[in-house]
Amino acid sequence: MGVALSQQLRIGAYILKQRLAGVRRYPLVLMLEPLFRCNLACAGCGKIDYPDSILDRRMSVAEAVGAVEECGAPVVSIAGGEPLIHREIDRIVDAIVARRRYVYLCTNALLLEKKLDLFEPGPFFSFSIHLDGPRAVHDRSVCRAGVHDVAVAAIGAARARGFRVSVNCTLFDGMGSGEVADFFDSVATLGVDGITVSPGYAYERAPDQQHFLNRRKTKALFRAVFARGRGRRWPLNHSALYLEFLAGNRTYRCTPWGNPTRNVFGWQRPCYLLGEGYAPSFRALMEETDWDSYGTGNYEKCADCMAHCGYEATAVEDLAAHPWKALPAALFGVRTEGKMAPEIPLAGARPAEYVSAGLVGERSRGQSPTGSSANPSGQ
Ligand code: SF4
Ligand code: SF4
Repeated sequence: MGVALSQQLRIGAYILKQRLAGVRRYPLVLMLEPLFRCNLACAGCGKIDYPDSILDRRMSVAEAVGAVEECGAPVVSIAGGEPLIHREIDRIVDAIVARRRYVYLCTNALLLEKKLDLFEPGPFFSFSIHLDGPRAVHDRSVCRAGVHDVAVAAIGAARARGFRVSVNCTLFDGMGSGEVADFFDSVATLGVDGITVSPGYAYERAPDQQHFLNRRKTKALFRAVFARGRGRRWPLNHSALYLEFLAGNRTYRCTPWGNPTRNVFGWQRPCYLLGEGYAPSFRALMEETDWDSYGTGNYEKCADCMAHCGYEATAVEDLAAHPWKALPAALFGVRTEGKMAPEIPLAGARPAEYVSAGLVGERSRGQSPTGSSANPSGQ
């Protein structure tokens, strides 16, 4: 179990409140990107390929706190870019923790040991350290030798100082189930509080498009990994129903509003993974986005997505409505054999629109980040 009981209870109470109030769409995790600049250049990254004029932008403390309050999600994941490059990152974290939100600071860990003194350990704050596999796999994934060992050393240093630490891992095509299982074992022995895992999503802007998993491969891989995982104690930071989904046992549609994204451009439509326009406020994002035009079966770009930022909230919502569905996985583990759940037909999906380059151009020229239409077909 990767999430502390107190955190589960607080989030459960938040979900109950939303359901009792009849709120149909509500956020669970705010993805806050206070900058895009990074000190790595990973091949699978869709965030760092902006011109310097954009990479030099920083979200202010007031903007970050405003986004947290506007959104209201109980969990805030601070990503980027590399958040530890932001000179006011400690003030941003302190301000959000003071509002009793659970903060995950996502970092590649290169600067972590140097910057540990800036932060205070506590139940509302975790470091979430990027680690995509064992040494050779991770260093290849981040395109630099030695990063894996720096990250592992930083995990030890942060834990020794009393911080909560989790690992976030993106799986790309090419890792076998045995290698993934051994990697999870090795991460568990580091004593981390949780492991967040997601199949890689083929970002339109990622320079390397060759190594992303499609849905068929994702489900086969996770079935094989979970089969190997019986009796091994991995602190996976996910609901049982999301793990069932990864193993092909559930048909889910994504819930992109569960993980809204606020970055230096504004509120990103429709999700953390696809940047197809920006809204000027959280309310505008929720009310004016044409949500039905996105998701697997609706949009070509979404065909292979099974990422946790799109589907964990779906699984959590299903769990809140039908808690008994998690019982089989809780008693016997995730099912790894038998028929898979039907796949969503892709034939009716609207074709991909390649709007990213145009949006980047607008922002480089300093034009309004919110001028894009909520409906991609209207752009
Ligand atoms: S560490 Fe993260 S933000 Fe930086 S280049 Fe790699 S994937 Fe992108
Ligand atoms: S399937 Fe959903 S979460 Fe995934 S890229 Fe599409 S809109 Fe985003």
